[in-house]
Amino acid sequence: MRKKNEIVPLTITGMTAEGNGVGRIEGEAVFVPRTAVGDKLQCRIVKAMPTYAFGIIEQLEEPSLDRIQPDCPVYASCGGCAFRHMTYQAECNVKQQVVEDAFVRIGGLHPVFLPILGCDTPIGYRNKAQYPVGMQNGQAVCGFYAKRSHRIVPYTHCALQPPLFGEILEAALEHIRQQGLQPYDEQRGTGLLRHLYLRQGYHSGEVMLCFVVTRPAREQLMPLSQQLQHRFPQLTSICMNVNPARTNVILGKRTETLLGQAAIRDTMCGIRVELSPHAFYQVNTAQAERLYGIAREFAQLDGRQSLLDLYCGTGTIGLSMADGVKHLTGVEVIPQAVENAIRNARENRIENADFHVGDAAQWAQQLAQRGEHPDVIVLDPPRKGCDAQTLEAVCRMAPQRIVMISCNPATAARDCALLDKMGYHAQKVQAVDLFPRTGHVECVVLMSRKK
Ligand code: SAH
Repeated sequence: MRKKNEIVPLTITGMTAEGNGVGRIEGEAVFVPRTAVGDKLQCRIVKAMPTYAFGIIEQLEEPSLDRIQPDCPVYASCGGCAFRHMTYQAECNVKQQVVEDAFVRIGGLHPVFLPILGCDTPIGYRNKAQYPVGMQNGQAVCGFYAKRSHRIVPYTHCALQPPLFGEILEAALEHIRQQGLQPYDEQRGTGLLRHLYLRQGYHSGEVMLCFVVTRPAREQLMPLSQQLQHRFPQLTSICMNVNPARTNVILGKRTETLLGQAAIRDTMCGIRVELSPHAFYQVNTAQAERLYGIAREFAQLDGRQSLLDLYCGTGTIGLSMADGVKHLTGVEVIPQAVENAIRNARENRIENADFHVGDAAQWAQQLAQRGEHPDVIVLDPPRKGCDAQTLEAVCRMAPQRIVMISCNPATAARDCALLDKMGYHAQKVQAVDLFPRTGHVECVVLMSRKK
């Protein structure tokens, strides 16, 4: 076992899914953030566990060939990015390896691995950002939380967001300071402004600004809102969300429109959608469209299939495939998301779809019980993956194909291994990078019923 503050020579030989470099010393793994394969360094141990340790760079003696100068002034302190110190190509190689390792090592599966689809421009891709507001040195600031903390790193021009977000933030901050609007103090639970939340329709260009506040403050926010809307005509929706609770959940239940519309509009794979502050929506629209396109290709639709979309959210995946199927059924646990899905279907004149509020496992079991046999089932679970009952019921429905979409390769591999035991063969896996520069990657898996 290593000792805290011990300094050891280390060569980085691998990378983790979260973007930490890994080296070994006497067989023990040492994880070091912001390193790259090939780095030779003197490493300071900061946390020692019985069989592994965490370290930081004490001195970089020989840099990896993958290294570049990080192009962000707050990279070292902000908790957002994990790969900004290496080329985007090297990051894509790491993510491909992470996905392959998950399926082979965790799942014991050997599908065809298609080469990862990287982003054409790995900057400015996010369509949504929620900036905490706080007080530092007597001044209102906003930015991002430092890693594993609620300390705000003030920064308004994050490279992952469209530059317009930075301009709106700067203008908003100026007014907030002038007007003396009080930022929220998390420790004491006092103050007014908790978060500034921005969302932009990638295709429509429409922008929503939502002030997250501790109490209704329409009058106080109105002059600021009017000035911002005047200066930024893209702001088609300015609203206020009230969250009085002492919690780190960002949004409260109640939202009121201050100016403009209650929601912004956008399109996803040609499907018109409305986005309210609460609605789940993939944060990288261009890459999500490629992801859904691959899911559709894997589903091999010819107009005759019935499709079950479990964990459907606001319905975008299923709706983008509705013109290729006979019937679409969507299931989702959040009632508002299902309302959105139903409205999205109506707005797009899609008549062969129905959506239901419910737990995926319960619905799958009921459908299986009723003897339903969808031809294709799409599974897009949250990070923790599907539970065994859901997968078991999915297999009882005996679809020809299962298309799994996941933002967590480890749970996807675990779930696919279970499907493999119940008669489905993992044919191919496509990694898609929806979250460049961060330690996250998405993948799509095609599982086919074994003969
Ligand atoms: N397919 C959608 C949303 C995917 S995110 C899209 O691409 O936009 C995962 C979704 O699963 C979320 O909307 C979440 O609310 C939902 N969810 C989580 N647990 C669930 C469960 N047990 N049953 C049904 N849906 C669930």
